[in-house]
Amino acid sequence: MKQKRFFLNEADLPKQWYNIQADMVNKPMPLLNPATKEAIKAEDLYPIFAKELCRQELNQTDRWIDIPDKVREMYAYYRSTPLVRAYGLEKAIGTPAHIYFKNESVSPVGSHKLNSALAQAYYCKEEGITNVTTETGAGQWGAALSYAAKLFGLEAAVYQVKISYEQKPYRRSIMQVFGAQVIPSPSMTTRAGKDILTKDPNHQGSLGTAISEAVELAQMTPNCKYTLGSVMSHVALHQTVIGLEAEKQMEMAGEYPDMVIACFGGGSNFGGISFPFLRHNILEGKKTRFIAAEPASCPKLTKGKFEYDFGDETGYTPLLPMFTLGHKFKPANIHAGGLRYHGAGVIVSQLLKDGLMEAVDIDQLESFKAGCLFAKAEGIIPAPESCHAIAATINEAVKCKESGESKVILFNLSGHGLVDMSSYDQYLAGNLVDYRLSDEEIEKNLAAQD
Ligand SMILES: *Cc1c(COP(=O)(O)O)cnc(C)c1O
Repeated sequence: MKQKRFFLNEADLPKQWYNIQADMVNKPMPLLNPATKEAIKAEDLYPIFAKELCRQELNQTDRWIDIPDKVREMYAYYRSTPLVRAYGLEKAIGTPAHIYFKNESVSPVGSHKLNSALAQAYYCKEEGITNVTTETGAGQWGAALSYAAKLFGLEAAVYQVKISYEQKPYRRSIMQVFGAQVIPSPSMTTRAGKDILTKDPNHQGSLGTAISEAVELAQMTPNCKYTLGSVMSHVALHQTVIGLEAEKQMEMAGEYPDMVIACFGGGSNFGGISFPFLRHNILEGKKTRFIAAEPASCPKLTKGKFEYDFGDETGYTPLLPMFTLGHKFKPANIHAGGLRYHGAGVIVSQLLKDGLMEAVDIDQLESFKAGCLFAKAEGIIPAPESCHAIAATINEAVKCKESGESKVILFNLSGHGLVDMSSYDQYLAGNLVDYRLSDEEIEKNLAAQD
């Protein structure tokens, strides 16, 4: 029998995360203080994030960062996640390509997000913090943080984007089961929320708005820190556990990827699976392609501009050098809530600028079609976000079919969609539409920033 799944022994789980900043020839440009335009130092971020996370954020020198023992212990609850050869999907497509996926959906909360939530909750606890707060879109990050906070004895308050709070009630319940307080955003609990609701009482919420609210709460509450599940460099750092495991598992399978593909919201699961392989491109001249799959309704990588922009709608965050659609951009209400963010993390932005990675945009209907094909072929219902990676993978596998090449494709299955069945319902009922932005709309959004 051909081997389908590859696992690592607990003793072989990564002991360190990989910090790609140390190996980048062109380092990410500094984050800037919006008032003075001076480069942000780690200390400047201490009021918002746990100190160790601030240091990790700006660390451009240490290639390897030790994973604390207590975090490794919690990783062992669900890691290694399986590396799976997608024989079923290959057959369904009729491609000579070898398709593998890293199955992050097996984490207790159903997505890769827990890899960073555990690390962040751990550092907060170590530093004497009692409360954590955050924003969440589809609820994946909120669920991960709620669980991690419970494990490490912290109180969690989660601002959930209103449209997702309404569309995805079960994720809210999951957070509540873990003991978190969940607030639909925009809310009247913060100045940022009140300002937005005053101007637009029907505002559906966005990740940018929810970030503003959570940051404000963290700044106003003693012993409370803000946490972020994507975009930041320290989040991508923690997620490299995915790619580091995959590297060893691909070796067990006797293959090395020609392409690594992941869906793209702010870049954490993409960075997590890509960076460990990308280091071999940078250091040894390997030629693997790295492809980020973003939604056509929120195309910051393929259609955005590289410039300094705020990470949130209100402008509380430092200015970040990134590919962006403008921090006032309001993405359409697509069902892949985790991909509705206006900007890309600073590391991936620099890598894209330098031609070290690529991006493609995927329409909503194409993503669900790909997700259904994958579900029938492999028996796993993917998260609507992950469907974008699957669609991009299928497109590459079809090209292999046309050219007759047996390329090795590795993609990240960032989460399962079992809590997203209302989205699948809508798709199957024919109620979903595509939201492809015109160049004029994008220009208008970028110009409307200041
Ligand atoms: C949050 C999320 C994403 C998008 O976030 P990234 O930081 O870009 O990885 C993708 N897939 C799932 C399942 C998510 O929960």
